Amino acid sequence: MAVVEVRELTKEFEGGKVHAIDGVSLAAHDGEYLVLLGPSGCGKTTLLRTIAGLEEPTAGDVLIDNHVVTGLPPRVRKIAMVFQSYALYPHKTVLANIVFPLRAAGMAREERDRKAHWAANLLGIGKLLDRKPRQLSGGERQRVALARALVREPQVFLLDEPLSNLDAKLRASARDELKSFQDEIGTTTIYVTHDQVEAMGLGDRIAVLSGGKVRQAGPPREIYDDPADTFVATFIGSPPMNLVRRDGHLVGFRPEHLLPVENVAAGDRTAVPLAVDRIEYLSGDRHVYGTTSRLGEPTRVVARLPATVETPIAAGETHEFAVHASRLRFFADTDEGLRTDPIRLGT
Ligand code: ATP
Repeated sequence: MAVVEVRELTKEFEGGKVHAIDGVSLAAHDGEYLVLLGPSGCGKTTLLRTIAGLEEPTAGDVLIDNHVVTGLPPRVRKIAMVFQSYALYPHKTVLANIVFPLRAAGMAREERDRKAHWAANLLGIGKLLDRKPRQLSGGERQRVALARALVREPQVFLLDEPLSNLDAKLRASARDELKSFQDEIGTTTIYVTHDQVEAMGLGDRIAVLSGGKVRQAGPPREIYDDPADTFVATFIGSPPMNLVRRDGHLVGFRPEHLLPVENVAAGDRTAVPLAVDRIEYLSGDRHVYGTTSRLGEPTRVVARLPATVETPIAAGETHEFAVHASRLRFFADTDEGLRTDPIRLGT
């Protein structure tokens, strides 16, 4: 186990034209599951590759257990990286694939087979050791790649979108497995994804990246409830946080907090009359789309109603909705969109 830290890390490509990582400082604590989340091109993979030593930073340092490892080759960092493409050897058996790094390191056969069986059983692929990769499902292949990383007993796991080749159902079960596996092993893990559901489900903490910078790092709940800026507020959540422009501010509230007025505790609520134009049913929830002019500039917003809210609502009508004051978030109406103090809205 180990602490992995980057300090003021910058990585440029093409002679400084591309700023893939732009002054990132971040640490994964001992045994922590840190997720790097962000849209395509935000620098996640470059950050992971720089930590692994596959890329040299333009500036800044990588530290493992407080030792600067910048400039040291990948193999001395005791890091195992699992990529999106599992890169298994197709002609080798599962067992031969798993023991490959140990064999390359000159470990005795008995010892490496013992480790391979331990890792395979831990990941539930103990019965598949004689098969070839083509005889495995996508999820099983992924577990072989993980087992191969695990036998090296790394101090740190770096996982780059390891679930992205799986179908939705398999992804969900593989996510559960990964989480319980990490709980058991306790190895510091940095996990890259652009999938917020995966990030929320797996991460002890999430670092949200955009344009090579960390916008916010914190536990999933905090990122969701208290986004540091409008990028985080709208990148996380489905549908994303509603934002209404008002007097140089943006007033934000999550769709599940915009409810028919009788469902919001009286006293400290803000009325939001909604001219409803569309209703969707998604996984048992009712998504009600409409325009409101009360909070600020006329804005199309969405309310997400759980099945327990049975109020009849129809497209074409104006319905009284409300948000509890404690659910409102305020941001500056600027490019950065940083959080601000609350402004007075009236009721
Ligand atoms: P994705 O989710 O699509 O994999 P990412 O967040 O992992 O994206 P990176 O692959 O880290 O993003 O890329 C960050 C930026 O750096 C992108 O603009 C990309 O085009 C650029 N980049 C990455 N590698 C190189 C390279 N070798 N040469 C030039 N530009 C690069």
